[in-house]
Amino acid sequence: MIEIAPAAIRPDHATEVRPMATECVVCRSPRLHYLFSVAGYRIVRCDDCGLLSTNPQPSDDELGRIYASDYFLRGRSEASQESVERLKSRTAGLYLDLIERYRGQRGGRLLEVGSGEGDFLVSAIERGFKVTGVEYSEHACAMASKKMASRCPFEIICGEITDVPGAGIYEVCVLSDVIEHVRNPRHLLERVHELLCPGGVIFIATPSLNSWSARLLKNRWMEFKPEHLFYFDSSTLQTLLIDGGYKDIIEQPGTKSLNVGYIAGHFARYKVRGLSWLADLVYRLTPTKLRHKPFHVVASGMVQLARRADHPKRHRLSIVVPVFNEARSFSQVFNRLLAKKLNGLETEFIVVESNSNDGTREQVLRYSGHPKVKIILQNVPRGKGYAVRAGLSQVTGDFVLIQDADFEYDIEDYEALLEPLLRNRAAFVLGARHGGSTWKMRQFENQPVVAAILNQAHWFFTGLINICFGSSLKDPFTMYKVFRRDCLYGIRFECDRFDFDWELVINFLRKGYRPLEIPVNYRSRSFSEGKKVSIFYDPITWLRVLIRLRLSSFDPLCEIEREREAIPEPADDEQLIIGQT
Ligand SMILES: [Zn+2]
Repeated sequence: MIEIAPAAIRPDHATEVRPMATECVVCRSPRLHYLFSVAGYRIVRCDDCGLLSTNPQPSDDELGRIYASDYFLRGRSEASQESVERLKSRTAGLYLDLIERYRGQRGGRLLEVGSGEGDFLVSAIERGFKVTGVEYSEHACAMASKKMASRCPFEIICGEITDVPGAGIYEVCVLSDVIEHVRNPRHLLERVHELLCPGGVIFIATPSLNSWSARLLKNRWMEFKPEHLFYFDSSTLQTLLIDGGYKDIIEQPGTKSLNVGYIAGHFARYKVRGLSWLADLVYRLTPTKLRHKPFHVVASGMVQLARRADHPKRHRLSIVVPVFNEARSFSQVFNRLLAKKLNGLETEFIVVESNSNDGTREQVLRYSGHPKVKIILQNVPRGKGYAVRAGLSQVTGDFVLIQDADFEYDIEDYEALLEPLLRNRAAFVLGARHGGSTWKMRQFENQPVVAAILNQAHWFFTGLINICFGSSLKDPFTMYKVFRRDCLYGIRFECDRFDFDWELVINFLRKGYRPLEIPVNYRSRSFSEGKKVSIFYDPITWLRVLIRLRLSSFDPLCEIEREREAIPEPADDEQLIIGQT
């Protein structure tokens, strides 16, 4: 049987055994090390992906005592109960807004796992959904049925998700504050995958280790509770979703509707040194009529939305090769790329040729008809960014790698770059030219002053990005950027030149990806050897994109909506696509 819900709610299953994990549920690493204890339970951190979990988990009996019938926080008086219900219904409204914006449509069949006393389901019915809730507390099921008695249609299943019948029938599945409670989140996502129809949407709300409260309060974070068995951040939850067969993941802040009375009640039950006292003080100082006035707050949670992917995982790597005037090296580099074997990965190549005038196009065309090669011929050379963007629009692999057609980088570094992606340790990897065991900085024998200026400029611009976007990167401008294709979802790129490197890294940072930097080999070529960066013009474009992205807000949902509503553009007559992969 899939162990998803604490069986403790069913007394016949109850046991005193505390289940102990030997590997991480996200990346399967055995390297789990102890951090600290919460109410006597050990919190461990996975050294490879950063997931926090309770290990060993509380026994079924212990969870049973926690999830007693008064588990759901409610006011004592009727007035305060009504106020709690109003808050829940407002938060449900916020969640349903996100679901509708992400799907671009309303209604359909919706399943809520852990439906509690049915507040979310009531709101979903009002939005035109046909709802099913599954909840293992009999008391909560009875409350929900009573609440929804006059509404139609609805279904409440008292049990676990394994008790929900059917397959491929739900358009939406909602897991609101649930995934952190279950014994095995991987099994939960697998079961939801079975229940969703093709392209069906999963909605997950859960506490996030990336939230401001987690970073501020550290091990005093209010979400550290015995019944929370897993603590995700953006990256670990996304990895679990991707590995579970989902795609098109976006993240949104976990906005909730709360009021002063509810917050004080929460901190009275879950004591946090300093904060409980402060919450109580604020409650006492707030005029009575304002204590139950709702406001929106992002305290500790995140929301992730994704679609059920229809195709099985192919483990395909898409290599995008932008080419312009590389006749000296193209064929040699490309033959080596085609010959390269990567264990467990099939490859496809998207070569984007931007109308070279040195014979490169003729060399590229020799590969037309190759089963692994797709060629894009552009009529106008608008820059590397323009070429890479055209290439990215054609990729079909699970992973994407950008490769120049020269010998500055070493393709023998591919295995090291791909390993964190294949082992679910990261979604985005950068091949850092600095920080490895060999000297990687630019050294042009014939242009030492230019090399020195470029090296200084590198540190200056790296510092700027780190300060503006709160990162600590060593080499954001490396050509070797390897990432899950899904990272591109909900991002619109505009840059045509080398500023695209900036645009890509900054947008990934804004979308919540923290790149893992792996040292790679690098031999810089000088300008006389064909380096194409303009030492005067390009830095201006870099600063321009940095300022534009720093000052603009970022919302992948807006991009998805914009794209959905956009009138399809006519086929680009400036480029021709040859070959299918
Ligand atoms: Zn892990």
